[in-house]
Amino acid sequence: MADSIEKKFPSDGEARQLIIEIGRRMYDRNFVAANDGNITCRVSPDEIWATPTGVSKGFMKENELIKLRLDGTVLKQGPLKVSSEIKMHLRVYLENPNAGGVTHAHPPFCTSFAIAGLPINSAMCSEVVVTLGVVPCVHYETPGTQGIPDSIAPYCRDYNAVLLANHGALSWGKDLIEAWYRLESMEHFARIQVLTEKFIGKTNLLSREQVEALIKIRESIGISGGGFPAHCADKPQNLTDVLI
Ligand SMILES: [Zn+2]
Repeated sequence: MADSIEKKFPSDGEARQLIIEIGRRMYDRNFVAANDGNITCRVSPDEIWATPTGVSKGFMKENELIKLRLDGTVLKQGPLKVSSEIKMHLRVYLENPNAGGVTHAHPPFCTSFAIAGLPINSAMCSEVVVTLGVVPCVHYETPGTQGIPDSIAPYCRDYNAVLLANHGALSWGKDLIEAWYRLESMEHFARIQVLTEKFIGKTNLLSREQVEALIKIRESIGISGGGFPAHCADKPQNLTDVLI
């Protein structure tokens, strides 16, 4: 029997529960304050569940979530309206048919990079190169306008996340859990980069050759997006054991 290549989507109930769980983690990790952030989960090629506006993502209830079609038509309305930031989520799904989940938040280290206009593109941590890759910093547009989806569109297929200038972070993945892990990884790594560069003040970057080996691993596990870090060492700097 031939293997089915049809993508398996979560049920409506599974998607709603997962959104609530990710919202709780997002709030508990200080990735959002007040009613910030939004989360979506794809349940069919043309349908997603989304978080509403005006509610803390740490305290959502299932009946508050909203089901939409990718053209923005609301299929199931809760007591609250959908966020104006839904446009950027819809654009990720439209540009990248493999995206199964999208997360958006304002994590402090990622948002500091976004305020400084700095992408995440230094080859520092092996696992970040494999699972997250380069994170471009996209130019500023007013939140809630069509400018944001238009600004992220060129990156939705070839990368796994973007920083939004003077705003925050946006990530996606084959499912919502992968999108969330990427948001977590971005923030974790942005923090490590700040500690390494500003507190320790010495950085051994991975070499171009070492990055190439990691990108082969990335491809072997089916991750196609992520780009190649702009900042690598010409020669390996990390091949000696250090005792003193
Ligand atoms: Zn935002």
